[in-house]
Amino acid sequence: MFESLSDRLSGVFERLTKQGALSEDDVKTALREVRVALLEADVSLPVARDFVKAVQDKATGQAVTKSVTPGQQVVKIVHDELVHVLTGDEDPGKLKVDNPPAPILMVGLQGSGKTTTTAKLAKRLKEREGKKVLMASLDVNRPAAMEQLQILGVQIGVDTLPIVKGESPVQIAKRAKTQASLGGYDVYMLDTAGRLHIDAELIQQAAEVRDVANPRETLLVVDGLTGQDAVNVATEFDDKIGVSGVVLTRMDGDGRGGAALSMRAVTGKPIRFVGLGEKMDAIEEFHAERIAGRILG
Ligand code: GDP
Repeated sequence: MFESLSDRLSGVFERLTKQGALSEDDVKTALREVRVALLEADVSLPVARDFVKAVQDKATGQAVTKSVTPGQQVVKIVHDELVHVLTGDEDPGKLKVDNPPAPILMVGLQGSGKTTTTAKLAKRLKEREGKKVLMASLDVNRPAAMEQLQILGVQIGVDTLPIVKGESPVQIAKRAKTQASLGGYDVYMLDTAGRLHIDAELIQQAAEVRDVANPRETLLVVDGLTGQDAVNVATEFDDKIGVSGVVLTRMDGDGRGGAALSMRAVTGKPIRFVGLGEKMDAIEEFHAERIAGRILG
């Protein structure tokens, strides 16, 4: 298992005599440990490096308060800086769904948890905000994916657009828009096709749908356990499609959450939600403090 950063730092500072302030050397030694801990938490190297540099500037010369050991002091500085970097949106859980019917575009790779997250968010909008939601699957190559969304819809009591064979994703998006207007829906969610890897066709398709739907939110769903890959996926989707936020799934797993830091630092996009399991309620809005605590261990 991981040794927590707090434990590491306690060890580092054990032999240091009590001083009034952290010396440059103390800080340097501590920051080496911070860097290793970040890398073990799956933070990418350039992000870990930048992060440590920012902490170094803040830590050097800081007065050590009487109640804490120097190790705890550094942990606090690191924690605060983590929260600072991770914090994106003031209100990450608030989806922009005024002006009905508001389209929400869901994008991401196959297996990332996109369909599950679509249904989880639909349920949230319905239960917490009293919104009437319509969900539509655009995954024309995978009938099973379309059926999966329908099954989830029945389970959570949210309507899905009837499946019509032979339509293109753009045609389905248009039909969803019409249906949402005629049916008095507040929100319609478009669950785009996923592939195992990003390819030109996937991006092209998502871009066409985006142009037709003009979404209020484009949420990228990424598997939080995939570390650096998740960051590459996010960068590419954001460059090509433009995303308004990220949903990190599988944060109930063993991962240390480092992907969240890399994601935020590299793409600059806010993390809006965190997926915490397979059940329809297993989603919560992003809390920087919680992820920071998890990265520190
Ligand atoms: P899609 O191909 O991106 O639409 O992925 P799915 O929504 O079909 O999800 C793939 C699998 O991941 C399913 O078995 C989901 O139940 C599971 N899954 C989705 N989100 C989470 C999550 O946050 N935690 C866990 N443990 N499993 C998840």
